Amino acid sequence: MKKVFIKSYGCQMNVYDAKRMADVLRPEGYVEVETADNADLVVLNTCHIREKAAEKVYSELGRLRELKGERASRGQDTSIVVAGCVAQAEGAEITRRAPVVDLVVGPQSYHHLPGLIARSRSGEKVVETEFPADDKFDHLPAAPRAVTRARGVSAFLTVQEGCDKFCTFCVVPYTRGAEMSRPVVKILAEAEQLADAGVRELTLIGQNVNAYHGEGPDGRTWTLGLLLERLAQIPGVARLRYTTSHPRDMDASLIAAHRDLPALMPYLHLPVQSGSDRILAAMNRQHDSDEYRRIIDRVRAARPDIALSSDFIVGFPGETDADFEDTMRLVRDIGFASAYSFKYSPRPGTPAADRDDQLPEAVKSERLAVLQAELDDSRRAFNRATVGLVTDILVERQGRHPGQMAGKSPYLQAVQFEADGVAIGDTITVEITETGPNSLFGRPVGALSTPTRERMGAL
Ligand code: SAM
Ligand code: SF4
Repeated sequence: MKKVFIKSYGCQMNVYDAKRMADVLRPEGYVEVETADNADLVVLNTCHIREKAAEKVYSELGRLRELKGERASRGQDTSIVVAGCVAQAEGAEITRRAPVVDLVVGPQSYHHLPGLIARSRSGEKVVETEFPADDKFDHLPAAPRAVTRARGVSAFLTVQEGCDKFCTFCVVPYTRGAEMSRPVVKILAEAEQLADAGVRELTLIGQNVNAYHGEGPDGRTWTLGLLLERLAQIPGVARLRYTTSHPRDMDASLIAAHRDLPALMPYLHLPVQSGSDRILAAMNRQHDSDEYRRIIDRVRAARPDIALSSDFIVGFPGETDADFEDTMRLVRDIGFASAYSFKYSPRPGTPAADRDDQLPEAVKSERLAVLQAELDDSRRAFNRATVGLVTDILVERQGRHPGQMAGKSPYLQAVQFEADGVAIGDTITVEITETGPNSLFGRPVGALSTPTRERMGAL
């Protein structure tokens, strides 16, 4: 048996891809290990979205150079692979900057990994960053049932990849390529295999997941709303989620799915990036702040208790105090249950990076701190509002203390509770009793006495 260590950075897409890379390497005799120390093969599954994320790879490669040297002194070979979006964006530059790297492979070529590794083993520095004509999903093997089961009751499933939107700050259209949707039958087959192995919650993922427009079994183009409706019929699938969405693609069928499908969890990650119309236009987001508010109104009308989440960028080139204040107003008006916020990071090759009105780092840091304090208040307010709520929890793992179990609420809150005779994969009814800094606490109760939707809708 050979050992492979895969380290993933960045988004859920990379988490999913890491599992599929492990699946393609397993038939080649590789078992996954938890650290690089004794690995014959180390894969860094990288992220290029912000400069910091990309730079992390080079510091990790510095550490791996030492490790490779130590192992070589014991007569052991170590192959170093850089995969993911840094691989796609920087290609051969990586092997120039870090000669320790044996293979650079972009996200569309993971199905060719065994052949590429064999080539690199014969001494060649291999760089594979083409967008191949064949579809990797047709060639990536499924994990054996026991492996899927061991990975947990909640799984990601890629339904869409790439992006055609070209926001002026973003590298994704260049690293992940044009938007493509997997055919419905392929997604159903993967979902059924996951459910059969014990997965209870499926999160459909894509860079623009709600732009999904895959070929249906009836020959027509299916929307994400239609796909969710079909997936909800698979026995064993108790919960459905999807991420990440773009406001432009929040269509009527998806909003209706939030109203009609009990399995579709009341949680929506819908990045707005900024509350300023001027900045939204400069970002090429293709909507203004009013349109975003109207979408939120429609979603809330369909599902009053929905927990809302977003991404924000502060310090985009030319952002004024007034623009930033517009973002703060939007945050206060909407009341997000959670959010991710970032300082604008100029990315080579994107239009915004070439602008000459870049903001000083200090201004970005100051605005980020102000925004994060407000988002944190908003998150805490949402969590406090759920205290006393009786809701269902999908049990995902043992808690930190003996007898404690942990799972997620429908609103994607981590909840810990004491319970006997509860198994991972069960959905149990819990009353939320307390909020902590990182998770909530609850106690199991007999039945769902207060219907979640009504209680939260009234808050
Ligand atoms: N497709 C999603 C959308 O349109 O909202 C976002 C996908 S992107 C992988 C995740 C998040 O990274 C973005 O929503 C944005 O907030 C952030 N991001 C992307 N490029 C960035 C940059 N150059 N600087 C800072 N944050 C960035
Ligand atoms: Fe990037 Fe999302 Fe914009 Fe596409 S829609 S360019 S992934 S931020």
